[in-house]
Amino acid sequence: MFWDETHETLPRPDLERLQLQRLQETVRRVFARVPFYQRKFNDLGLTPEAIRSLADLRRLPFTTNADLRANYPAGLLAVPYDQTLRLHTSSGTTGKPKALFFSRQDVNNAAELCARAFIATGVRAGDVFQNMMTYGMFTGALVTHYGAEKVGCLVIPAGPGNSERQVMLMRDFGSTVIHLTPSYALYLATFLEKHGVEPRRDLQLRKAFVGAEPYTEETRRKIEEGLGLDVYNSYGLSEMNGPGVAFECEQKQGMHLWEDHFLVEILDPETDEPVPEGQSGELVLTTLCREAMPLLRYRTRDVTALITAPCACGRTHRRLHRITGRADDMLILRGVNIYPQQIERVLMAQPGIGRNYLIELTGLDEMTVKVELAEAGFGGQVEQLIALQKKLAEKLRAEILCKPTVQLVPPGDLPVSEGKAKRVVDRRQL
Ligand code: AMP
Ligand code: ZN
Repeated sequence: MFWDETHETLPRPDLERLQLQRLQETVRRVFARVPFYQRKFNDLGLTPEAIRSLADLRRLPFTTNADLRANYPAGLLAVPYDQTLRLHTSSGTTGKPKALFFSRQDVNNAAELCARAFIATGVRAGDVFQNMMTYGMFTGALVTHYGAEKVGCLVIPAGPGNSERQVMLMRDFGSTVIHLTPSYALYLATFLEKHGVEPRRDLQLRKAFVGAEPYTEETRRKIEEGLGLDVYNSYGLSEMNGPGVAFECEQKQGMHLWEDHFLVEILDPETDEPVPEGQSGELVLTTLCREAMPLLRYRTRDVTALITAPCACGRTHRRLHRITGRADDMLILRGVNIYPQQIERVLMAQPGIGRNYLIELTGLDEMTVKVELAEAGFGGQVEQLIALQKKLAEKLRAEILCKPTVQLVPPGDLPVSEGKAKRVVDRRQL
Protein backbone atom coordinates (compact mmCIF):
# COMPACT_ATOMS: atom_id res chain seq x y z
CA MET A 1 0.00 0.00 0.00
CA PHE A 2 1.11 3.53 -0.76
CA TRP A 3 0.18 6.96 0.54
CA ASP A 4 0.92 8.77 -2.72
CA GLU A 5 1.35 5.96 -5.22
CA THR A 6 1.78 8.22 -8.24
CA HIS A 7 4.76 10.03 -6.81
CA GLU A 8 6.26 7.13 -4.87
CA THR A 9 6.40 4.87 -7.92
CA LEU A 10 7.20 7.39 -10.66
CA PRO A 11 9.32 5.75 -13.36
CA ARG A 12 12.83 7.19 -13.13
CA PRO A 13 12.68 9.21 -16.37
CA ASP A 14 9.46 10.90 -15.23
CA LEU A 15 10.91 11.45 -11.78
CA GLU A 16 13.96 13.09 -13.30
CA ARG A 17 11.87 15.30 -15.50
CA LEU A 18 9.93 16.46 -12.46
CA GLN A 19 13.16 17.02 -10.54
CA LEU A 20 14.60 19.21 -13.26
CA GLN A 21 11.45 21.28 -13.50
CA ARG A 22 11.40 21.77 -9.72
CA LEU A 23 15.11 22.50 -9.56
CA GLN A 24 14.79 25.21 -12.19
CA GLU A 25 11.85 26.71 -10.35
CA THR A 26 13.78 26.65 -7.04
CA VAL A 27 16.81 28.27 -8.63
CA ARG A 28 14.70 31.01 -10.16
CA ARG A 29 13.03 31.67 -6.82
CA VAL A 30 16.18 31.95 -4.74
CA PHE A 31 17.89 34.04 -7.39
CA ALA A 32 14.97 36.45 -7.41
CA ARG A 33 14.39 36.59 -3.67
CA VAL A 34 17.37 35.64 -1.53
CA PRO A 35 20.28 38.13 -1.54
CA PHE A 36 22.62 35.46 -0.15
CA TYR A 37 22.08 33.31 -3.26
CA GLN A 38 22.08 36.31 -5.60
CA ARG A 39 25.57 37.15 -4.37
CA LYS A 40 26.74 33.57 -4.72
CA PHE A 41 25.34 33.34 -8.26
CA ASN A 42 26.96 36.62 -9.22
CA ASP A 43 30.30 35.48 -7.81
CA LEU A 44 30.07 32.36 -9.96
CA GLY A 45 28.84 34.27 -12.99
CA LEU A 46 25.71 32.11 -12.97
CA THR A 47 22.13 32.90 -13.93
CA PRO A 48 19.14 30.59 -13.46
CA GLU A 49 19.08 29.95 -17.22
CA ALA A 50 22.38 28.09 -16.89
CA ILE A 51 20.58 25.18 -15.23
CA ARG A 52 19.43 23.14 -18.20
CA SER A 53 19.87 19.59 -16.94
CA LEU A 54 20.17 17.79 -13.64
CA ALA A 55 23.90 17.54 -14.25
CA ASP A 56 24.04 21.33 -13.99
CA LEU A 57 23.26 20.94 -10.30
CA ARG A 58 27.00 20.72 -9.82
CA ARG A 59 27.41 24.29 -11.03
CA LEU A 60 25.34 25.60 -8.13
CA PRO A 61 26.92 26.91 -4.94
CA PHE A 62 26.96 24.93 -1.70
CA THR A 63 25.09 26.03 1.39
CA THR A 64 26.67 25.23 4.76
CA ASN A 65 25.82 25.18 8.38
CA ALA A 66 27.85 28.38 8.74
CA ASP A 67 25.75 30.07 6.03
CA LEU A 68 22.61 29.29 7.98
CA ARG A 69 24.08 30.72 11.15
CA ALA A 70 25.42 33.79 9.37
CA ASN A 71 21.96 34.47 7.94
CA TYR A 72 20.18 34.01 11.26
CA PRO A 73 17.39 34.81 11.89
CA ALA A 74 15.61 35.38 8.57
CA GLY A 75 18.25 36.11 5.93
CA LEU A 76 17.47 33.06 3.81
CA LEU A 77 13.73 33.61 3.58
CA ALA A 78 12.30 33.37 0.08
CA VAL A 79 8.78 34.49 1.05
CA PRO A 80 7.59 37.61 2.85
CA TYR A 81 7.79 37.23 6.62
CA ASP A 82 4.02 37.33 6.98
CA GLN A 83 3.68 34.30 4.72
CA THR A 84 5.59 32.06 7.08
CA LEU A 85 3.53 29.71 9.19
CA ARG A 86 5.91 27.93 11.52
CA LEU A 87 9.38 28.32 12.98
CA HIS A 88 11.64 25.44 13.94
CA THR A 89 15.23 25.35 15.04
CA SER A 90 17.86 22.73 14.56
CA SER A 91 19.01 20.84 17.60
CA GLY A 92 22.17 22.35 18.11
CA THR A 93 25.35 22.92 19.55
CA THR A 94 26.04 26.17 21.30
CA GLY A 95 25.16 29.77 20.54
CA LYS A 96 22.33 30.82 18.27
CA PRO A 97 20.38 27.98 16.72
CA LYS A 98 19.67 27.63 13.03
CA ALA A 99 16.23 29.07 12.28
CA LEU A 100 14.07 27.20 9.79
CA PHE A 101 10.87 28.71 8.46
CA PHE A 102 7.94 26.82 6.97
CA SER A 103 5.19 28.23 4.76
CA ARG A 104 1.72 26.66 4.71
CA GLN A 105 2.79 24.54 1.77
CA ASP A 106 5.97 23.47 3.57
CA VAL A 107 4.05 22.43 6.67
CA ASN A 108 1.74 20.38 4.52
CA ASN A 109 4.52 18.81 2.46
CA ALA A 110 6.47 17.82 5.56
CA ALA A 111 3.43 16.00 6.90
CA GLU A 112 2.78 14.41 3.49
CA LEU A 113 6.27 12.96 3.34
CA CYS A 114 5.90 11.56 6.85
CA ALA A 115 2.57 10.03 5.87
CA ARG A 116 4.25 8.34 2.89
CA ALA A 117 6.93 7.02 5.20
CA PHE A 118 4.53 5.72 7.85
CA ILE A 119 2.42 3.85 5.30
CA ALA A 120 5.63 2.40 3.83
CA THR A 121 6.42 0.84 7.23
CA GLY A 122 2.99 -0.76 7.42
CA VAL A 123 1.37 1.78 9.74
CA ARG A 124 -2.31 2.32 9.02
CA ALA A 125 -5.24 4.49 10.07
CA GLY A 126 -6.30 3.23 13.48
CA ASP A 127 -2.78 2.69 14.73
CA VAL A 128 -2.00 4.39 18.04
CA PHE A 129 1.12 6.50 17.67
CA GLN A 130 2.94 7.44 20.87
CA ASN A 131 5.37 10.18 19.96
CA MET A 132 8.29 10.24 22.38
CA MET A 133 10.37 12.85 20.60
CA THR A 134 10.81 16.25 22.17
CA TYR A 135 7.99 18.66 21.39
CA GLY A 136 9.01 22.29 21.06
CA MET A 137 11.32 24.01 18.65
CA PHE A 138 12.66 20.75 17.21
CA THR A 139 11.11 19.29 14.10
CA GLY A 140 11.28 15.71 15.41
CA ALA A 141 7.97 15.57 17.24
CA LEU A 142 5.74 18.12 15.53
CA VAL A 143 6.42 17.12 11.95
CA THR A 144 5.74 13.43 12.62
CA HIS A 145 2.75 14.37 14.75
CA TYR A 146 0.99 15.96 11.78
CA GLY A 147 2.12 13.15 9.48
CA ALA A 148 0.56 10.54 11.75
CA GLU A 149 -2.66 12.53 12.01
CA LYS A 150 -2.83 12.66 8.22
CA VAL A 151 -2.61 8.87 8.11
CA GLY A 152 -5.43 8.67 10.64
CA CYS A 153 -3.53 7.44 13.69
CA LEU A 154 -4.53 8.34 17.20
CA VAL A 155 -1.55 10.48 18.18
CA ILE A 156 -0.35 10.62 21.77
CA PRO A 157 2.02 13.60 22.11
CA ALA A 158 3.87 12.06 25.04
CA GLY A 159 7.27 13.65 24.53
CA PRO A 160 10.35 11.88 25.88
CA GLY A 161 11.20 10.65 29.35
CA ASN A 162 9.23 9.63 32.42
CA SER A 163 9.26 5.99 31.43
CA GLU A 164 6.72 4.97 34.03
CA ARG A 165 4.19 7.30 32.45
CA GLN A 166 5.15 6.13 28.97
CA VAL A 167 4.36 2.56 29.93
CA MET A 168 1.10 3.63 31.53
CA LEU A 169 0.10 5.40 28.30
CA MET A 170 1.08 2.35 26.25
CA ARG A 171 -1.04 0.08 28.41
CA ASP A 172 -4.05 2.35 28.80
CA PHE A 173 -4.33 3.48 25.18
CA GLY A 174 -2.95 0.43 23.42
CA SER A 175 -0.07 2.18 21.63
CA THR A 176 1.04 0.24 18.58
CA VAL A 177 3.72 2.56 17.18
CA ILE A 178 6.34 4.62 18.98
CA HIS A 179 8.81 7.22 17.77
CA LEU A 180 11.98 7.82 19.75
CA THR A 181 15.74 8.13 19.69
CA PRO A 182 17.87 4.99 19.75
CA SER A 183 19.39 5.94 23.10
CA TYR A 184 16.01 6.36 24.74
CA ALA A 185 14.77 3.15 23.11
CA LEU A 186 17.66 1.24 24.67
CA TYR A 187 16.92 2.77 28.02
CA LEU A 188 13.23 1.98 27.74
CA ALA A 189 14.07 -1.66 27.02
CA THR A 190 16.06 -1.80 30.23
CA PHE A 191 13.23 -0.09 32.09
CA LEU A 192 10.69 -2.67 30.91
CA GLU A 193 12.98 -5.51 31.86
CA LYS A 194 13.54 -4.08 35.33
CA HIS A 195 9.84 -3.63 35.93
CA GLY A 196 8.88 -7.07 34.70
CA VAL A 197 6.98 -5.74 31.68
CA GLU A 198 7.13 -8.33 28.92
CA PRO A 199 6.37 -6.20 25.85
CA ARG A 200 5.06 -8.99 23.61
CA ARG A 201 2.74 -10.16 26.39
CA ASP A 202 1.78 -6.93 28.14
CA LEU A 203 1.84 -4.28 25.43
CA GLN A 204 0.57 -3.92 21.88
CA LEU A 205 3.62 -2.31 20.35
CA ARG A 206 4.30 -3.37 16.76
CA LYS A 207 6.65 -0.79 15.34
CA ALA A 208 9.13 1.87 16.33
CA PHE A 209 10.47 4.72 14.25
CA VAL A 210 13.97 5.27 15.49
CA GLY A 211 16.13 8.14 14.39
CA ALA A 212 17.52 11.61 15.13
CA GLU A 213 20.98 10.22 15.81
CA PRO A 214 23.24 7.58 14.32
CA TYR A 215 22.96 3.99 15.53
CA THR A 216 24.11 0.63 14.30
CA GLU A 217 22.40 -2.49 13.00
CA GLU A 218 23.42 -4.22 16.24
CA THR A 219 21.58 -1.54 18.21
CA ARG A 220 18.52 -2.00 16.03
CA ARG A 221 18.50 -5.68 16.91
CA LYS A 222 18.87 -4.91 20.61
CA ILE A 223 15.95 -2.50 20.51
CA GLU A 224 13.81 -4.96 18.55
CA GLU A 225 14.49 -7.71 21.08
CA GLY A 226 14.08 -5.49 24.12
CA LEU A 227 10.87 -3.81 23.03
CA GLY A 228 9.41 -6.70 21.05
CA LEU A 229 8.74 -4.80 17.84
CA ASP A 230 10.10 -3.90 14.41
CA VAL A 231 12.43 -0.91 14.22
CA TYR A 232 12.42 1.32 11.15
CA ASN A 233 15.25 3.73 10.59
CA SER A 234 14.07 7.30 10.15
CA TYR A 235 16.33 10.04 8.85
CA GLY A 236 15.77 13.74 8.59
CA LEU A 237 17.18 17.10 9.43
CA SER A 238 15.50 20.39 10.21
CA GLU A 239 17.10 22.09 7.22
CA MET A 240 15.08 19.72 4.98
CA ASN A 241 11.72 19.67 6.86
CA GLY A 242 12.86 17.45 9.73
CA PRO A 243 11.85 13.78 9.88
CA GLY A 244 10.47 12.06 6.79
CA VAL A 245 13.34 12.92 4.44
CA ALA A 246 14.40 9.28 4.19
CA PHE A 247 12.66 6.33 5.80
CA GLU A 248 12.82 2.57 5.64
CA CYS A 249 10.00 0.63 4.05
CA GLU A 250 8.92 -2.81 5.28
CA GLN A 251 11.94 -4.35 3.56
CA LYS A 252 14.20 -2.62 6.13
CA GLN A 253 17.04 -2.45 3.61
CA GLY A 254 17.97 1.21 3.50
CA MET A 255 15.89 4.37 3.64
CA HIS A 256 13.96 5.67 0.63
CA LEU A 257 14.83 9.31 0.11
CA TRP A 258 11.92 11.21 -1.39
CA GLU A 259 13.60 12.30 -4.57
CA ASP A 260 10.70 14.35 -5.89
CA HIS A 261 11.34 16.67 -2.91
CA PHE A 262 15.12 16.47 -2.51
CA LEU A 263 18.02 16.11 -4.91
CA VAL A 264 20.69 13.90 -3.50
CA GLU A 265 24.46 13.96 -3.98
CA ILE A 266 27.08 11.91 -2.18
CA LEU A 267 30.37 13.77 -2.30
CA ASP A 268 33.90 13.11 -1.25
CA PRO A 269 34.26 15.72 1.52
CA GLU A 270 37.88 16.39 0.61
CA THR A 271 37.49 16.94 -3.11
CA ASP A 272 33.76 17.81 -3.32
CA GLU A 273 33.58 15.37 -6.24
CA PRO A 274 30.83 12.72 -6.41
CA VAL A 275 31.98 9.38 -5.03
CA PRO A 276 31.69 6.30 -7.29
CA GLU A 277 28.23 4.74 -7.18
CA GLY A 278 27.51 2.96 -3.91
CA GLN A 279 30.44 4.39 -2.00
CA SER A 280 30.27 6.46 1.18
CA GLY A 281 30.60 10.17 1.33
CA GLU A 282 28.95 13.30 2.60
CA LEU A 283 25.26 13.61 1.90
CA VAL A 284 24.43 16.88 0.14
CA LEU A 285 20.79 17.78 -0.38
CA THR A 286 18.91 20.35 -2.45
CA THR A 287 15.29 21.13 -1.65
CA LEU A 288 12.91 20.95 -4.61
CA CYS A 289 9.61 21.95 -3.04
CA ARG A 290 10.45 24.12 -0.08
CA GLU A 291 8.83 27.49 -0.40
CA ALA A 292 9.79 29.55 2.65
CA MET A 293 13.42 28.55 2.81
CA PRO A 294 14.77 26.62 -0.17
CA LEU A 295 18.38 25.46 0.20
CA LEU A 296 20.77 24.60 -2.58
CA ARG A 297 23.31 21.82 -2.10
CA TYR A 298 23.14 21.81 1.67
CA ARG A 299 26.10 20.03 3.20
CA THR A 300 24.60 17.79 5.83
CA ARG A 301 27.96 16.51 7.17
CA ASP A 302 26.25 13.12 7.45
CA VAL A 303 28.15 10.17 6.02
CA THR A 304 26.22 7.60 4.03
CA ALA A 305 26.01 5.85 0.65
CA LEU A 306 23.31 5.56 -1.97
CA ILE A 307 21.62 2.25 -2.78
CA THR A 308 20.58 2.37 -6.41
CA ALA A 309 19.16 -1.16 -6.84
CA PRO A 310 15.36 -1.27 -7.17
CA CYS A 311 13.48 -2.08 -3.95
CA ALA A 312 11.02 -4.96 -3.70
CA CYS A 313 8.39 -2.57 -2.32
CA GLY A 314 7.99 -0.91 -5.72
CA ARG A 315 9.03 2.58 -4.70
CA THR A 316 11.36 4.05 -7.30
CA HIS A 317 13.11 6.51 -5.00
CA ARG A 318 16.66 5.47 -4.24
CA ARG A 319 17.70 4.51 -0.73
CA LEU A 320 20.28 5.73 1.75
CA HIS A 321 22.38 3.37 3.75
CA ARG A 322 22.23 3.77 7.49
CA ILE A 323 24.14 6.96 8.38
CA THR A 324 27.51 5.73 9.54
CA GLY A 325 28.37 8.94 11.30
CA ARG A 326 28.51 12.67 11.16
CA ALA A 327 31.68 14.19 9.88
CA ASP A 328 31.55 16.27 13.07
CA ASP A 329 31.47 13.16 15.28
CA MET A 330 34.71 11.77 13.99
CA LEU A 331 37.32 11.39 16.71
CA ILE A 332 40.99 11.45 16.07
CA LEU A 333 42.89 9.34 18.55
CA ARG A 334 46.62 9.09 18.07
CA GLY A 335 46.16 10.05 14.48
CA VAL A 336 43.54 7.39 13.78
CA ASN A 337 40.08 8.43 12.63
CA ILE A 338 37.34 6.79 14.66
CA TYR A 339 33.57 7.03 14.52
CA PRO A 340 31.68 6.31 17.75
CA GLN A 341 29.44 3.96 15.72
CA GLN A 342 32.37 1.62 15.21
CA ILE A 343 32.64 1.25 18.97
CA GLU A 344 28.90 0.91 19.39
CA ARG A 345 28.78 -1.90 16.83
CA VAL A 346 31.30 -3.96 18.82
CA LEU A 347 29.64 -3.32 22.18
CA MET A 348 26.09 -4.04 21.08
CA ALA A 349 27.07 -7.32 19.43
CA GLN A 350 28.72 -8.65 22.60
CA PRO A 351 26.66 -11.06 24.73
CA GLY A 352 26.62 -10.07 28.41
CA ILE A 353 26.84 -6.37 27.60
CA GLY A 354 23.92 -4.06 28.43
CA ARG A 355 22.49 -1.15 26.51
CA ASN A 356 24.35 1.97 27.56
CA TYR A 357 27.90 3.14 27.00
CA LEU A 358 30.09 6.21 27.18
CA ILE A 359 33.38 7.02 25.49
CA GLU A 360 35.76 9.15 27.55
CA LEU A 361 38.85 10.76 26.13
CA THR A 362 41.32 11.87 28.74
CA GLY A 363 44.94 12.67 29.39
CA LEU A 364 47.06 13.24 26.36
CA ASP A 365 45.27 10.86 24.06
CA GLU A 366 43.67 8.07 26.08
CA MET A 367 40.32 6.43 25.50
CA THR A 368 38.19 4.71 28.08
CA VAL A 369 35.05 2.92 26.99
CA LYS A 370 32.61 2.56 29.86
CA VAL A 371 29.87 0.09 29.22
CA GLU A 372 27.04 -1.28 31.33
CA LEU A 373 26.72 -4.99 31.91
CA ALA A 374 23.47 -6.72 31.03
CA GLU A 375 21.14 -7.18 34.01
CA ALA A 376 21.51 -10.93 33.68
CA GLY A 377 25.26 -10.81 33.27
CA PHE A 378 25.89 -8.91 36.47
CA GLY A 379 26.96 -10.85 39.52
CA GLY A 380 29.24 -13.08 37.47
CA GLN A 381 32.60 -14.30 38.70
CA VAL A 382 35.44 -11.80 38.79
CA GLU A 383 37.43 -13.97 36.39
CA GLN A 384 34.55 -13.94 33.94
CA LEU A 385 34.33 -10.17 34.10
CA ILE A 386 38.04 -9.78 33.50
CA ALA A 387 37.83 -12.14 30.55
CA LEU A 388 34.91 -10.16 29.10
CA GLN A 389 36.78 -6.91 29.56
CA LYS A 390 39.79 -8.32 27.77
CA LYS A 391 37.74 -9.74 24.95
CA LEU A 392 36.02 -6.39 24.36
CA ALA A 393 39.31 -4.51 24.36
CA GLU A 394 40.65 -6.92 21.73
CA LYS A 395 37.55 -6.66 19.56
CA LEU A 396 37.67 -2.88 19.79
CA ARG A 397 41.29 -2.87 18.79
CA ALA A 398 40.48 -4.92 15.72
CA GLU A 399 37.76 -2.39 14.81
CA ILE A 400 39.34 0.96 15.62
CA LEU A 401 43.03 0.07 15.48
CA CYS A 402 43.84 1.27 18.97
CA LYS A 403 43.18 -0.42 22.24
CA PRO A 404 41.03 1.50 24.69
CA THR A 405 40.65 0.80 28.38
CA VAL A 406 37.36 -0.98 28.88
CA GLN A 407 35.45 -0.43 32.10
CA LEU A 408 32.47 -2.64 32.84
CA VAL A 409 29.97 -0.89 35.08
CA PRO A 410 26.76 -2.09 36.75
CA PRO A 411 23.50 -1.72 34.83
CA GLY A 412 22.02 1.76 35.27
CA ASP A 413 25.35 3.35 36.18
CA LEU A 414 25.77 5.64 33.17
CA PRO A 415 23.82 8.83 32.46
CA VAL A 416 20.55 8.26 30.63
CA SER A 417 19.54 10.29 27.62
CA GLU A 418 15.99 10.91 26.52
CA GLY A 419 16.87 12.87 23.41
CA LYS A 420 20.05 12.82 21.42
CA ALA A 421 22.66 11.05 23.51
CA LYS A 422 26.04 12.42 24.36
CA ARG A 423 28.23 9.39 23.78
CA VAL A 424 31.62 11.04 23.84
CA VAL A 425 33.17 13.13 26.57
CA ASP A 426 36.41 14.73 25.48
CA ARG A 427 38.60 15.94 28.32
CA ARG A 428 41.94 15.59 26.59
CA GLN A 429 44.66 18.11 27.24
CA LEU A 430 46.07 18.17 23.75
P1 AMP B 1 18.08 18.05 13.57
O1 AMP B 1 18.22 19.00 12.46
O2 AMP B 1 18.28 18.68 14.89
O3 AMP B 1 16.82 17.28 13.48
O4 AMP B 1 19.27 17.01 13.44
C1 AMP B 1 19.48 16.35 12.22
C2 AMP B 1 20.69 15.44 12.31
O5 AMP B 1 20.41 14.32 13.15
C3 AMP B 1 21.07 14.85 10.99
O6 AMP B 1 21.84 15.73 10.21
C4 AMP B 1 21.85 13.63 11.43
O7 AMP B 1 23.16 13.97 11.80
C5 AMP B 1 21.10 13.17 12.66
N1 AMP B 1 20.14 12.12 12.32
C6 AMP B 1 18.82 12.24 12.16
N2 AMP B 1 18.26 11.04 11.87
C7 AMP B 1 19.25 10.13 11.84
C8 AMP B 1 19.32 8.72 11.59
N3 AMP B 1 18.25 7.97 11.34
N4 AMP B 1 20.54 8.14 11.62
C9 AMP B 1 21.63 8.87 11.87
N5 AMP B 1 21.63 10.19 12.13
C10 AMP B 1 20.46 10.82 12.11
ZN1 ZN C 1 11.30 -0.14 -0.38
